[in-house]
Amino acid sequence: MNDSGHNRKFGGFPHRRQAWRWLLPVLLMLLFLSTLLWLPWQAQRMETNERQEQLIADTLWVEQTIRFQLSRNEESLRLVAAEIAAGSLSTQKWHDRLTALLRNSRELSRIVWLDTTGRQVISTDELPTSLADFSKSSQLAAQRARNTRTPQYSQPAPGLAGPMQMDYHVPLYLGNNYIGSLVATYPTGSILDRMVPWWFAQDNEITLTDDDDVIIDKRSAGGPGRGVYTHSRALDLPGVALMLRTNSVKSAPKLLPNLLVGSVIALSLGLLWSLGALWRDINRRLAAEGALRHQVSFRTAMENSLLTGLRARDLEGRITYVNPAFCQMVGIPPEDLVGKVPPMPYWAPEAMEEYKGRFTQVLAGTVTPQYETVFLRAGGERFPVLIFESPLLDDSGKQTGWMGSILDISDRKRIENLNRQQQEKLQSSARLASMGEIASTLAHELNQPLAAISSYTTGALNLLNGSHGQSGRIDPETLKAALEKASSQAQRAGHIIRSVHAFVKKREPTREPVTIQALLDNVIPLIELQARQFFVSIQTSIDPALPPVLGDGVLLEQVTLNLTRNAIEAMQNIIPERRILRIVAAQDAALPTPNVIVSVIDHGHGIPDDVVERLFSPFFSTKAEGMGMGLNICRTAVEFHGGTLTHERNPQGGTIFRFSLPALSKNMLDSATIGGK
Ligand code: ADP
Repeated sequence: MNDSGHNRKFGGFPHRRQAWRWLLPVLLMLLFLSTLLWLPWQAQRMETNERQEQLIADTLWVEQTIRFQLSRNEESLRLVAAEIAAGSLSTQKWHDRLTALLRNSRELSRIVWLDTTGRQVISTDELPTSLADFSKSSQLAAQRARNTRTPQYSQPAPGLAGPMQMDYHVPLYLGNNYIGSLVATYPTGSILDRMVPWWFAQDNEITLTDDDDVIIDKRSAGGPGRGVYTHSRALDLPGVALMLRTNSVKSAPKLLPNLLVGSVIALSLGLLWSLGALWRDINRRLAAEGALRHQVSFRTAMENSLLTGLRARDLEGRITYVNPAFCQMVGIPPEDLVGKVPPMPYWAPEAMEEYKGRFTQVLAGTVTPQYETVFLRAGGERFPVLIFESPLLDDSGKQTGWMGSILDISDRKRIENLNRQQQEKLQSSARLASMGEIASTLAHELNQPLAAISSYTTGALNLLNGSHGQSGRIDPETLKAALEKASSQAQRAGHIIRSVHAFVKKREPTREPVTIQALLDNVIPLIELQARQFFVSIQTSIDPALPPVLGDGVLLEQVTLNLTRNAIEAMQNIIPERRILRIVAAQDAALPTPNVIVSVIDHGHGIPDDVVERLFSPFFSTKAEGMGMGLNICRTAVEFHGGTLTHERNPQGGTIFRFSLPALSKNMLDSATIGGK
């Protein structure tokens, strides 16, 4: 009951419950997916940062290199300037010194010594120049240097030769007197070409710009910069504002993120698919589970409501299950029964051997698993049970034990007993009733032999008396004949009385081999009594090879007597010539077990259709003083012997009643006789 209630509740909100069940995994999966998606992005960011940092470090390094080289050149030029001021640098020496300097510092294109008026004193090349030939910005730088007495760089501008160049003006002073200047020229192109290492130039586009981001010069050996990783650094030089800008030719990292994103998508799809499959599978399982639970509660309810006891045993005979009905029957709680091995607590001690024998037979599978036995209640009371055993199979068809259903048949037995007793009572009263009917004819019949005996004995006495008085000689033959006749009449009377006595006596039905011949021999005198009353002649025909039957002779006699009485009564009002009663006993060999068939054939008034239906009903009779029990008892008696009682219309008019009885075979006969002894 609880179960089914629970079921209904469960069935009411499956969706809500399912939703809750799925919430956590779905959330976890979303978290997992977002982490997966975030990871490549994070990886890309990290790589970008790393590259950017690398670029900054490299740019810094390049700037340092340029500055270092420039300051080395500045140092060398200051030395030269000091020598000029000291007047220790002759024109001849100039050449040697400065050619060596230019050779070491290839970024320098030329060095010129100008006098106070700006005219060239000497130069490292053949081009004659004066300050006027320098660019405007260079001239400004020269002025600045002279005023501040410190060397100054000029803003890069196109020089005489065309390309952009930057000049370094070193003012020459002797004491406080300005004596000219030294000008070193750097083509901006060669600053980038010669001072930036090739490996850096390969990976980056390097530009020199002024403060306003106007490009002065550019080196892009490895192709144009992508603008992804860039850095700029001011070249801190006196007199000029220059920016060194680097722009990596590398684009943002792509392969790894693509790969990662691709695999994440594939993974997510796979995950979604498996989640879907899982969902379907779980749904299927849930449905199966629900159906199973339903089945189980259904079965449990069924088992609990059964009045039949159920008991399952495994192959060793250990009890594995009992239902409430069984527990109630034997009065032992289930926990004391389950797990028990023989001998069982409900076995009656006196029948222990029988149980054990049958138990081993059941386990061996050699008995038909249906039998009656006696069980013991907890209180010690015995009760009869009917047991059906059937093998318990698992889903692969292998036997795992036995399932037995047990019926408490004490009630049935009681009713059967009562029935039998009543039936017997009825039979005996019916016998008495038929006796009452034939009592008068019996008296009449006995009268005959008695009268005969009396006349024979009177005759004999007369003979004796007569002989005594007249001749004194008695004819012994005449006397013997009279006495013999008297004796046979007395025997006949005794026979009639004996058979009536045997018939009336109330007794338990027995079973012993009976031949039809003996049966008829016993009843024919009784039948004749009636037959004679109604002037009916009797014809019997018995198959000499007829086998005997196993049964109660008296019961069968009663059946025969009943049928013959009915037949005789049916012929009361028929013309005397047709009043023939035939009794035919034959064998029906057509059946697998041969039957003996006894037919009682009359030429009576027959059975009308409306009577046929109620023929066998108790107390149904068409006769004024009939009891209506005869046929009913006959049928019960015949069926008790395992036979059938039928009737049919006699083609020659009248009725044929037939009863069949299973014939006794030779070996059955032997065992029955032995059993009888
Ligand atoms: P009863 O003989 O006391 O009437 P039975 O049960 O023996 O009771 O028979 C029931 C009825 O069946 C009879 O009353 C009669 O009408 C009918 N019956 C039985 N046997 C014959 C027969 N051989 N021929 C015609 N009718 C019969």
